[in-house]
Amino acid sequence: ASETATYRRVMLKISGEALMGETQFGLHPPTVERIAREVKSVHDMGVEICMVIGGGNIFRGLQGSAQGMERTTADYMGMLATVMNALAMQSALEGQGIHTRVISAIPMDQVCEPYIRRRAVRHLEKKRVCIFAAGTGNPYFTTDTAATLRANEMSCEAIFKGTKVDGVYDKDPKKHADAKRYENVSYDEVLQQHLGVMDASAIALARDNHLPIIVFSLDEPGGFKGILAGEGTYTKVH
Ligand code: UDP
Repeated sequence: ASETATYRRVMLKISGEALMGETQFGLHPPTVERIAREVKSVHDMGVEICMVIGGGNIFRGLQGSAQGMERTTADYMGMLATVMNALAMQSALEGQGIHTRVISAIPMDQVCEPYIRRRAVRHLEKKRVCIFAAGTGNPYFTTDTAATLRANEMSCEAIFKGTKVDGVYDKDPKKHADAKRYENVSYDEVLQQHLGVMDASAIALARDNHLPIIVFSLDEPGGFKGILAGEGTYTKVH
């Protein structure tokens, strides 16, 4: 396998649910560690890594507001959930000897750093993994949008969206044997056909800034590294 990375700086976006493993809620430490190892293997290639982790394993604003909670309050709770996930990932990465910074869109100085763009860029140049927490800091947004925003701000070459399947399909591959995986798909096709890669505002933000989105399986051991070395199956949205 080639060890040469085709990318210099990337954004890895994973959902909060990716950290649950087979459990139904919250964090599953062995799963967090497994994902941290995938990140380490890419970091070892010299690639500069940004991460955004969702919060859906703990709390989602929409779910809170469906239960009668005021929407913006519920969204702030969701953002706080992403900070917990970011700290868990920081702990797992540092356990593997990787220097990291958790950088929050909502300042909470005792816990992590506030987001200052130039400072974050400097961390990346020093090969620290930057985990961007608290989403965009605004209610009514998602962590997909946050990942796209930070990827643009950090001049990432692509967003790697780690999922349970190895790309974007025309229908659910877990339910339909004849589901077809796209090798390449345009932003507009994703939007028009509701292909469910990321939410519409994130896709539009990526499209307007020509930021490719690579959808791949995070369940495939070595998959993240493989794709950075130019191997494996995935879908490129561009
Ligand atoms: N959230 C928000 N603004 C943001 C990012 C996230 O309000 O910029 C809130 C929102 O309530 C969301 C929750 O945080 O439901 C968790 O994020 P998300 O649903 O994107 O997590 P994922 O589905 O990726 O686990």
